[in-house]
Formats: sequence, structure tokens, C-alpha cells
Amino acid sequence: MTTSVSSQTQCCIAGGGPAGMMLGYLLARAGVRTVVLEKHGDFLRDFRGDTVHPSTLRVMDELGLLDAFLERPHQRLEVVGGWFGQEHVQLGDFRGLPERYAFIALMPQWEFLDFLAGEARKLPAFELRLRFEVTGLIEADGRFAGVRGHSPDGDFEVRADCTIGCDGRRSTVRDAAGLPVGDIGAPIDVLWFRVRRDPAETDSSLAAASRSATSSSPSTAATTVNAPSSSPRAAPTTSSATTSRRSAPRCSRRRRCSPPTSTTCARGTTSSCSPSASTG
Ligand SMILES: Cc1cc2nc3c(=O)[nH]c(=O)nc-3n(C[C@H](O)[C@H](O)[C@H](O)COP(=O)(O)OP(=O)(O)OC[C@H]3O[C@@H](n4cnc5c(N)ncnc54)[C@H](O)[C@@H]3O)c2cc1C
Repeated sequence: MTTSVSSQTQCCIAGGGPAGMMLGYLLARAGVRTVVLEKHGDFLRDFRGDTVHPSTLRVMDELGLLDAFLERPHQRLEVVGGWFGQEHVQLGDFRGLPERYAFIALMPQWEFLDFLAGEARKLPAFELRLRFEVTGLIEADGRFAGVRGHSPDGDFEVRADCTIGCDGRRSTVRDAAGLPVGDIGAPIDVLWFRVRRDPAETDSSLAAASRSATSSSPSTAATTVNAPSSSPRAAPTTSSATTSRRSAPRCSRRRRCSPPTSTTCARGTTSSCSPSASTG
């Protein structure tokens, strides 16, 4: 392998998702020289969450980041509820929490990551390298001593005192380290939606559910998606749809609709999905 970039640091983190970016920020804030390697060129991947929960907001508050974080565009959900047929059911109420984080912030994950990256880059001990894909581990003296991979400039090595894999569920680092995965099973898959919302709609309910057999809605009936083992996830790519209360996007159990401008389906509902899905 031709190595065009070689460097040494205290901590090397593979993966710039929520885990890698937060860990990188915390370590660098504590003065640990940390390099985060992310294989993508940015955080604009539209297939991840958009609910930042009160517990996360609390952490941001404890880190002194909350005010700046909430300057990013977001919507607030203080009460979570849903329509089940004609009946509105309240599922949660965050208003009893301390006021600063008594809500779910609806914010795309890329905003969260972009914010964290911005804060982390202010720290001299932090470095984020984008388009750096980790392909394996360096072994030296009977231990893992860093990572190797490739970037637009060629192959690279980052040697580190501590190497951490935060590279997601198909972790290259985990495989290279020979760490076993405990499969707890996943009987269903997730369909990821983008559905336009009527600007006049003031109802912030998360779920619109009905029994498909009795529904008069023209929405397509749906059930949960059985996840075939070891197969790629289903990826319907139909376009967005305008929704209303009656013809709202109906989402099956454990399906979620995004982004904040959409109706999001709560887990545990039995319903149907309008044919408006696009997933990543
Ligand atoms: C459809 C969906 C909806 C979700 N909704 C929410 C929600 O609303 N709220 C919430 O809190 N959580 C939500 N989650 C969960 C949340 O997205 C995950 O918990 C979180 O993304 C896990 O973070 P992570 O950093 O461990 O992994 P990941 O987010 O998977 O990040 C891994 C990172 O590593 C990078 N990477 C991978 N391989 C390499 C490599 N070889 N070299 C370098 N970089 C690499 C990837 O590009 C990625 O940026 C949702 C998850 C899904 C799938």
C-alpha cells in the first residue's frame, strides 16, 4: 500500500456520526488530541433521525452548548400525541421537565452533527478529516495502534494511543478487531418518509392511525415490513404527497415519517401508509 498521509495522535475515532462527533468533542475538550475520520464529505445524509430528545438537550445544556444549538432551525414538541381514528390520545408530556429542555427538538441529524463539528473545530486538540474512509486497523506490538484507509489524497495511516470505532452498525473497525456481534434480531424494517405538511396545519400530533380495514381514507393499507435476514432494506422511492387530517400519512407500526415538516408516526400504532415514501 502507498501511504501518502501518515500521522500520530492520542485518540483516533473512525466515524463522524453522533457517537464519533460527540466523543471527539468531549475528548478534545478534555485536552486529548483527537482525530475523527469520516468517510463522507459532509453530514447531509437524509436517512437519520430528527428528534433530539430532552435527555440529549440536557447534555447539551450541561456542556454549555444548548443556547447556541437551539439557534439552529428546529421545531419544538412539548406534548406528544396522536390521532387514532377520530380519537386523540396524548402519549407524552414533557412540560414537567426543567424548562430549558422540556420538549423534543425536531431538527435533522445533519444540523446536529454540523453544529457539533463547528463547536469541536474551535478546540485546538480536535481534528475532523472528511472523506477519510477507514479500511483496517494497524497492529503493532500486540495491540491495535491506529487505523489505515484511503482518502482523496491517497492511502493514509493514523497511528494512535487509543483507537475507537464509531463507524456504525456495519463497523469496519469492529470487523477488523474481530469483535463479535450479538444479534438480538430485528423482526421489522423501517420505511423513511418525507411528506409535505400543509402550512395551515396547526396540529402537531405525531401519529395518525386507523384500522385499514375500516378506514374510509384512500391511503394505501400497510402492515409492518418483515425484515428478511441479511437482505438490503426496502427502499420505496415514490414522491412526496400533500397531506391533510383525513388523508394524513398513515404509518405502520415502528415506521417513522420525516422531516420536521411532516407528520411523524409514533411507534406502537397500527395503521397504514400513504404511498409517499422515500428512504435512504
Ligand atoms: C431511520 C432512523 C431514524 C432514526 N431516528 C432517530 C431520532 O429521531 N432520534 C434519535 O436520537 N436517533 C434516531 N435514530 C438513531 C440514530 O440515528 C443512531 O442512534 C445514531 O445515528 C447512531 O450513531 P453512531 O454515531 O453510532 O452511528 P452512525 O450514525 O451510523 O454513524 C457512523 C458514521 O461513521 C461513518 N463511517 C462508517 N464507516 C466508516 C469508515 N469505514 N470510515 C470512516 N467513517 C465511516 C458513517 O459515514 C457515519 O457518519 C434513527 C436511526 C435510524 C436508522
